[in-house]
Amino acid sequence: MKVCEHCGKEIYHAAAICHHCGNKVETETEVIEEKPVSDVSDKTLGIIAYITLIGFILALVLSNGRERSEFLKLQLSQALIITLCHIGGIMVPLVGWVLLIVVFFAWASALIFACQGKTKPLPVIGEFRVF
Ligand SMILES: [Zn+2]
Repeated sequence: MKVCEHCGKEIYHAAAICHHCGNKVETETEVIEEKPVSDVSDKTLGIIAYITLIGFILALVLSNGRERSEFLKLQLSQALIITLCHIGGIMVPLVGWVLLIVVFFAWASALIFACQGKTKPLPVIGEFRVF
């Protein structure tokens, strides 16, 4: 039961008008939580971003239209650079293959940090901020 703010008598919870004094009763306005465009958390998106180019694009699309956290921005930047280096490494023989090993370790460490939810930039790669 709630109480009328005009006469102080008990009224029905859902009542819009007090049945004692006839005054309008303030109805409790439901607090509608502002939902983000996607329900996927930044942490999940940060991890998805490292799962191939498709994952990166997916993370980019799903986080589109909402405020990206510093964490997600870092993951997206790093994922993009790692993906580009990966593609470059495949195309260039010998030198590229050495690069692929470096890329693999960078990718693995970045993925571990993302899984831990850490906003920890990788050396060199983390300095390039695309997002
Ligand atoms: Zn009243």
